[in-house]
Amino acid sequence: MSVLKVLYYPEPVLKQKAKAVTDFTKITSELIRDMVETMYAKAGVGLAAPQIGLSQQIAVLCPSMKKGEERFLINPVILEATGEEIGTEGCLSVPGASAEIRRATEIKFQAMDLKGKTFTEKATGFYARVIQHELDHLNGTLIIDRVDFVRRQQLLSTYKLI
Ligand SMILES: [Zn+2]
Repeated sequence: MSVLKVLYYPEPVLKQKAKAVTDFTKITSELIRDMVETMYAKAGVGLAAPQIGLSQQIAVLCPSMKKGEERFLINPVILEATGEEIGTEGCLSVPGASAEIRRATEIKFQAMDLKGKTFTEKATGFYARVIQHELDHLNGTLIIDRVDFVRRQQLLSTYKLI
């Protein structure tokens, strides 16, 4: 197992829409183990493949931060989103920045598991927030793209000092 290098803004791969996974043999157990290890090493609750330089729609998350409770989402899409809530989010790719982001409180999503089997599930609260954050990564969107212009400038000026 190894901890992978996490890419930071403004790395171009973070701004690209990740490609849908079609060949599931490319999702090796080593890749998944490394992504999980990297997420924990950086104290994150989620990690999307573009953050390690892989433009594929793969995300691992673990909102409980308990080992063994990781979830894996391949090619995820949100089918329904209801409610609205503002909450603070950070991002491993924009270290030091935290922003108030508006998210749906309840979502219904579809994704594939590591073997390519499609499933549909509902998520609420913090779990729903983490999924929406990781889905943003797969679409090339970062938390700094989710705030207004003034806040974005503030975040980026702080970020550049780090
Ligand atoms: Zn992030």
